[in-house]
Parts: sequence; structure tokens; C-alpha cells
Amino acid sequence: MPAESESNAAVCPACGGELATWRWVPASEPALATVRFELRRCARCRSAVTIGDVADDLHETGAYRPGAPRLHRAVTPLLQAFDRRRLTMLGVAPPARLLDIGAGRGRFVAAARTAGYDAFGIEPSTRGVQAAAAIGAPVRQTTIEQAQIPDASLDAATLWHVLEHLDGSDAGVEQPASWLRPGGRLLVGVPNLASFQARIGAERWYHLDVPRHRVHFTPAGLHELLHRHGFEVLRTYHVLLEHNPFGMWQSLLSRVTVHPSYLYNVLKRNAPLRSPDLVLTALGLPLAPLAALAELIAGALRHGGTIAVLARKQAGRLG
Ligand SMILES: [Zn+2]
Repeated sequence: MPAESESNAAVCPACGGELATWRWVPASEPALATVRFELRRCARCRSAVTIGDVADDLHETGAYRPGAPRLHRAVTPLLQAFDRRRLTMLGVAPPARLLDIGAGRGRFVAAARTAGYDAFGIEPSTRGVQAAAAIGAPVRQTTIEQAQIPDASLDAATLWHVLEHLDGSDAGVEQPASWLRPGGRLLVGVPNLASFQARIGAERWYHLDVPRHRVHFTPAGLHELLHRHGFEVLRTYHVLLEHNPFGMWQSLLSRVTVHPSYLYNVLKRNAPLRSPDLVLTALGLPLAPLAALAELIAGALRHGGTIAVLARKQAGRLG
């Protein structure tokens, strides 16, 4: 029943609760800012769902277009540090068999292999798979629904900012539940709709990314989804340097700029450099430490901008 109901968004994909119209929000792409999408919110777990279809090429255009972003070389060491942190959160020692689901360009798979893990990835986009091959990371081109992975063959799996892009949240968790051995670990990273920065940013919250993000989870909703598929939640991280301080700062600035998420879009070559927003963003840079401090407090109060949930597949239960 859930899979069928999800497609018309009658029930919450996280907990199965009732959905009701919540608000209409603009598309995150600057070029589509006049298009608005309906969000429906769950009365039980307070997660939300984006109503309306995504254009087929929306994961290949705009902020997701091919080509290197500005300053990408400068941030490479930072991204590598984030990858090592993600491995630490998993709490599984090498040479564990590790699958990165939605592996993108294979950067995390490569980092895990360097650290001694028997790691591989799956990824639906041709561009991602080709980029992964270029750095020697084994990433198979397939969707989560169609991947051919033997049952109980994995020690660990990661779903890092992937689940929110799927219309079928159940498949996103059900599949890894069958691929993991009993006791295997699943690490799920998603934006947190119950965060302080989601409230501050409102319809321009940096991590809302409508309509690419189909489901907007709260910790309660994600926990419920994991429990339903035979996982025990071990830990929920709210202090995450990878996405949270920037999300807070960018969401604050988006309250005054013309373009939403201006700096992010400039770095992605997706907003004009010649804009009053450049001045506003420059003026906002000195506020970054304050935004980071605010986010650190939010995380300590368990309202971080994104969360990472570590779960263990329970023994004796099938996905
Ligand atoms: Zn719900």
C-alpha cells in the first residue's frame, strides 16, 4: 500500500501519516523562480512532500549542470576531510564491504578505498559513472530499484543526500535492508525540516531545493521509516560541518538577496556575477562566524540543518 499511495502523495512516505496542504514555495533554480510547488505536510511526523513533477533534466541543468564549479580545487581538501568524517560516523572498520548508494562522481567511494574499505557505488547518471571511472572508483550505472546486489552481502551502506531525491522512500531503505547482513550499518544523511535554519530560511531555506527534493524529512519521520524496514537507530548526528554552517549562513543571506542561495549559485556558475547580490554577499561574509556559531548551538540543541542517522539492520528480520 505505501508504494502505491506515495505516487499520489496521499500519505506520508516517512511514517504513513496523513498529508495536508502546507505551503507553496518557489523552485530553487534561479531560472525557475516564478514556478511554485505545493508542499504537503504530515500531521504525525511533520515531514513534508513536494507535489508536482520534476523536469527530466533537472539533475543535469542549472546548479547541477556538468563542469567543475568555481574554486573546486580550493575546496578539495575540505571535501576529503568530510569524506573521512563520514567513514568515521559509520563505525565499521576496514576492509568492510561498503556500498555508496547514489555515488555521484565516486569521490566517497575513492576515499573509502584509500582508507582500506572494499567499497563500490551505484549511480543512475552517465556523467557521474564516467567521472567515477576517470578517478578509478568502481561505480555501477543503475538505479536503487534495479541494482543487482546479493542479499546480506554488505557490511555497510551509505545514502548520503540521496533519499530526499527519491519519490519512493520505501525502496530507498528497503533495498539496502536486504543487501546488508544482519548487524550491518546504514548511514543516511538528509536535510532536517525540523531545523532552526529551515525555519529561518522558510521558502528560501538553502536545503529545501524544490522540486529536486521530493521528501523533506524530520528526524522523527526518518527514524520511523528506518524502524519500519527493520533497522534500529543507533545515533542521530546534528552537528555536521559538511552542510550545516554554510546552510545557516546562506539561508540568512537569502532573506535579503534577489537570487536565492546567491553564493552557492555563483560557485555553480548558475547566477550572474554582476548583481547587487554580489555586494550583499560580500557584506555578509564577516557574518559567517556568527552564522556558524548559531548553527553549532542549533546542532547542540538537536535542531541541526541536516542530520546523519546511523542505523543497524536487526538480526532475524528481513528487509
Ligand atoms: Zn509522517
